[in-house]
Amino acid sequence: MKLYISADMEGTAAVASWTQVDPKNVSEYPYYRKLMSLEVRAAIDGAREAGVQGVLVNDSHSSMRNVLWDELPADVRMIYGNRKPLSMTEGCSRDFAAAFFTGYHAGIGVQDGTLDHTYTPDTIYNVRLNGVRCSEATMNAAVLGLDGVPIALVTGDRATVEEARAQLPWVVGVVTKDSIGRYAVNSLSPVEAQRRIRAGARQAIAQLGTMKPFVFEPPVALEIDFAGTQNADFAELIPGFERTGGRSVRFVHDDYRTVFRAFVAAFRLGAAANAPV
Ligand SMILES: [Zn+2]
Repeated sequence: MKLYISADMEGTAAVASWTQVDPKNVSEYPYYRKLMSLEVRAAIDGAREAGVQGVLVNDSHSSMRNVLWDELPADVRMIYGNRKPLSMTEGCSRDFAAAFFTGYHAGIGVQDGTLDHTYTPDTIYNVRLNGVRCSEATMNAAVLGLDGVPIALVTGDRATVEEARAQLPWVVGVVTKDSIGRYAVNSLSPVEAQRRIRAGARQAIAQLGTMKPFVFEPPVALEIDFAGTQNADFAELIPGFERTGGRSVRFVHDDYRTVFRAFVAAFRLGAAANAPV
């Protein structure tokens, strides 16, 4: 049985600020990067105790070069580096029996969610799929759902776990911290969070029979509200996108993989519009 892990960082126990998760930061980031790595390791250890053999980790935060190789078992493979076509879901396939989302965070606009955002905090104000407000967890889950892979475990702050379970009710959630606004936390100790993630991972694999892939019914309508009109000015240039408002665009397709790729194109091109003129 093979496991796919998409590993983000903001939901790691103790993390409360952008500086802690910014690879350019030399004082705080190195420590929190290690905590992120140890949570990934805990999830792998728990899954293995429940019978998982092959593991692929997709480093899914910022530069996507965060997880320390030395903290992982030697036989684990990892996708490392940025600008992947499927971003936080790169490398998943029908070969995997289950997926974990570790260190995840709440979608943009969620109260008491540490560093709440959806892909690009300076560019995206809101995202809806078939009218439903989405977080990264649900957008990514639907990509994996196309390959029949269920999300079995989500770890992050309480808001993240509650948001994910509202759309993926079968998921085992491990709450690492309670967020106080956007930039403060009441957190478990890292060691205790890792213990709970290990136990949650074991439980998630054991309960896999009760879980199912998450899919959006086609045709899938993507609506993006951008932070500014300049972002929408760029995104609407992509063939297939329709301008629906000053800050908003819409894209519809029967194949969600195409929709997700269009989303990646739109937020990358949209973000380019934030460069000084
Ligand atoms: Zn992140």
